[in-house]
Amino acid sequence: MKTKGIVTGIVSNLVTVKVDGPVAENEICFIDLGGVKMMAEVIKVNGENASVQVFESTRGLKGGDKVEFEGRMLEVQLGPGLLSSIYDGLQNNLATMENVFLQRGEYTDPLDRKKTWDFTPLAKVGDTVVAADWLGEVKEGWLPHKIMVPFSFEGEYKVKSIKEAGAYTVDTVIAVLISDMGEDVQVTMVQKWPVKVAVKGYKEKPRPNKIMETGVRVIDTLNPIAEGGTGFIPGPFGCGKTVLQHAIAKQGDADVIVMAACGERANEVVEIFTEFPELIDPHTGRHLMERTTIICNTSNMPVAAREASVYTAMTICEYYRAMGLKCLLLADSTSRWAQALREMSNRLEELPGADAFPVDLSAIISNFYARAGMVVLNNGQTGAVTFIGTVSPAGGNLKEPVTESTKKAARCFYALEQNRADQKRYPAVGPLDSYSKYLEYPEIIEYLDRTVEKGWVDKVLQAKNIIRRGKESAEQINILGDDGVPMSYHVNFWKSELVDFVILQQDAFDAIDALCPLERQRFMLDLVLEICAKDYEFEDFEKCREFFKNLINELRQMNYSAYESEQFRAYNENVKSMIA
Ligand code: ADP
Ligand code: MG
Repeated sequence: MKTKGIVTGIVSNLVTVKVDGPVAENEICFIDLGGVKMMAEVIKVNGENASVQVFESTRGLKGGDKVEFEGRMLEVQLGPGLLSSIYDGLQNNLATMENVFLQRGEYTDPLDRKKTWDFTPLAKVGDTVVAADWLGEVKEGWLPHKIMVPFSFEGEYKVKSIKEAGAYTVDTVIAVLISDMGEDVQVTMVQKWPVKVAVKGYKEKPRPNKIMETGVRVIDTLNPIAEGGTGFIPGPFGCGKTVLQHAIAKQGDADVIVMAACGERANEVVEIFTEFPELIDPHTGRHLMERTTIICNTSNMPVAAREASVYTAMTICEYYRAMGLKCLLLADSTSRWAQALREMSNRLEELPGADAFPVDLSAIISNFYARAGMVVLNNGQTGAVTFIGTVSPAGGNLKEPVTESTKKAARCFYALEQNRADQKRYPAVGPLDSYSKYLEYPEIIEYLDRTVEKGWVDKVLQAKNIIRRGKESAEQINILGDDGVPMSYHVNFWKSELVDFVILQQDAFDAIDALCPLERQRFMLDLVLEICAKDYEFEDFEKCREFFKNLINELRQMNYSAYESEQFRAYNENVKSMIA
């Protein structure tokens, strides 16, 4: 028997309902508005009164309207066909732009029910299986998509029957399992999972032990992110958060990409609709969209739908991680999500925390970031969810609650600086304030020693020191004038400019420079450090400037040339002879 209720109060999207039975927080209900069923989520229960947040406009709703509770939380449907789809936070399919403006009470099917998938069984009759074990496989694009024992299954099951290889729709029963109580349960290619609960079904979640190559030098060379790691990009409006995230999506070493686009303005969402499907994956030459799911929402969508979107995105990533895949979750911007949390908490008239955000903002953000990670599956294989979110602090103030709370939760910090963006030094990641805590992990240091170069982390620290010394020298030159400081100050300043122009700066819009594999990053850092290790004598600071400017020019030409091409080698020879 479903719990029922009657609307007793309406404040914007927050509706109070008098209920006739048990209801739980986060439970889904439907409000009947003259035959239109509007979805809502319970956010607070107080005796026989429940506060529910309606996912769409409450226009026309009135006291006395009927409500029916579902006894389940907001769920996402998981199955083949998620990739290359564009959804809103409630997993409505937004493949066509018209659907961005769905009619009220309209919910679309997230998966294609008619399409058939070529299924290959992986389990056989008599096998003992538990939640998340692989029963079979279909090809989604060119990725192997595992059909798993639903995550909600508890205990052990025996495979009673399984479909032989063939083409089936997602709703076909592909296996029948017997529970330890002796009951038969049917398994299709689709399962449901509540978005706010982390997907379980793996053996352990060890610390990350390798890095995820992004192809972006400021990240990989200076502050690498681990596979299964977390990072965030705070930056004022227009400093390049979105461009940097798209660069990571394109170049990043991941099997599956999920983009949660929490738009500042509707046109940004339109951009992602039009631009993303055009992008070509530099690793495979195919459309990046084939292995991408986009979850979109704009600030004109209802607050609860906006709040749900990052969870929907995370759950989809966790689903693919359980297949042993490397997943990359990008959320832009998580400040919009935090604002949704703030709006909801304010309407509930909860005691507000800093800047009127909910008191438990920090815990909500930490719990979300904690869902990322590398996992060891029951079969010993590994999967990963790497998460990078952007934060758009009002006025670039890094002391505001969302930035501060995220800083506690994420292990990498890539701060975009307004003055670097103003100077067109892109990506505008500040070299000295940014950090990666993974550089302190013994596993990661060992991994870098083994795969990049022995003593690599020391070299990274050397590069950061050159930048620091250059900054100090620049400050002295500013105060005392070009002629008021010893020549070594000019040399130090220009050495840091060399690191800046050749390593930090990278053209996201140049086909060659945009994709810089680690091997190439190693080559360039070694070369730059070799140049910086030398002492240089100059008659005057102008000669010093000229020398370094020419050098920077040659090195930048190298960045724009195909690695190890004839051209690349020729520029390299020039550099060597210039510093001889
Ligand atoms: P944000 O998301 O922080 O508001 P965007 O990512 O939209 O900022 O970037 C704003 C503009 O800055 C871009 O349209 C582009 O012109 C420029 N830009 C940002 N990053 C780069 C980059 N790596 N290379 C070249 N131009 C960039
Ligand atoms: Mg942006």
